[in-house]
Amino acid sequence: MPAFFMTSTYTTATPEDTFALGEEIGASLTGGEVLLLSGGLGAGKTLLTKGILNALDYDVEEVTSPSFTLVNLYKTEARDIYHIDLWRLDDGRSSASAVGLEEILDDAEAIVIIEWAEKLKDFHFPGKFLRIMIEGDGEDPRKIVVSSES
Ligand code: ADP
Ligand code: MG
Repeated sequence: MPAFFMTSTYTTATPEDTFALGEEIGASLTGGEVLLLSGGLGAGKTLLTKGILNALDYDVEEVTSPSFTLVNLYKTEARDIYHIDLWRLDDGRSSASAVGLEEILDDAEAIVIIEWAEKLKDFHFPGKFLRIMIEGDGEDPRKIVVSSES
């Protein structure tokens, strides 16, 4: 059992709201967190990630979806931020090794943001992590559930 468990649910009516929620989440990060994002294609995972990066002082114009690169590395003054997308990979441990996740997690100060994290199944994260689930697509409002365990 986790020592502490907290869940918050948000509704974002517009892309701007989702970006702003990302900024709030980003502002709460101190380094060493893994963010596990799930939700269908077009749910808003990359957009939320842009909000997070904006709060972490990274130029969001430079942020692109890692659907094909698999891993983007963004360097900020404070720390490295890894942005991973498992969309094109198989379910299970092979996707973790395909992106070199174990090695990435060796950097205890880095922030790691993973889109399609549900593909990792029972991969064990040793440190702090947040699960962020986004429901909805098209122009519909999004339901965003953020849970943290520590
Ligand atoms: P994903 O990374 O989950 O595949 P993206 O972030 O790339 O999704 O795309 C989400 C798309 O949905 C964007 O084009 C965005 O403008 C649109 N959208 C419409 N309404 C919302 C909303 N409330 N929240 C997030 N995205 C929205
Ligand atoms: Mg995406």
